[in-house]
Amino acid sequence: VKAVVPIESLDSLSVKSFPLCMRQLHEQLRLSHHLKHGGRLQYGLFLKGIGVTLEDSLRFWREEFTRIMELDKFEKQYAYNVRYNYGKEGSKKNYSPFSCLKIINTTVGPGDCHGCPYRHCDISNLKNRLQGYGFNSQAITEIIDMTKKGHFQVACSKYFDAVHHTDLGIGINHPNQYFEESQKIVK
Ligand code: SF4
Repeated sequence: VKAVVPIESLDSLSVKSFPLCMRQLHEQLRLSHHLKHGGRLQYGLFLKGIGVTLEDSLRFWREEFTRIMELDKFEKQYAYNVRYNYGKEGSKKNYSPFSCLKIINTTVGPGDCHGCPYRHCDISNLKNRLQGYGFNSQAITEIIDMTKKGHFQVACSKYFDAVHHTDLGIGINHPNQYFEESQKIVK
């Protein structure tokens, strides 16, 4: 049985145990109190996958979105999607969190924050972001080199090692797998 992850821990988990694709969605949500559809879907399913309950998810999105909109608008336009991710609306399918392959191959438009940052971010933005996180220059160089070569998942693995101060070189194929590997170390 998977442990329940309380939403109060998401800020610290996003730093310690989220891959960059999810960390940037979390940060963007905190910053702008909104995410576009692709971001809500990618991040919402990831949260479900790590063990955030439907009730907590609703509260999490509601608390952010209602900072810029009326509660009524949130309930009418956005709560449905949250429940949908949990298979409680529409076709009631139990949707799975997206794999790296799916995220890397997704189409990302202007203003979107979803996708894989190694695949979809501008290199200089990516570099600035990594510097802002306080990584040492060698780690940043390795991540950027792999990104430039198109080895996005290897770049992600280098990021993992930079965050955890390890040298494991784990193969990353799913953001939720990244999270689980991290939790083994962090806990
Ligand atoms: Fe996310 Fe996968 Fe890209 Fe890593 S390689 S940032 S887990 S999509």
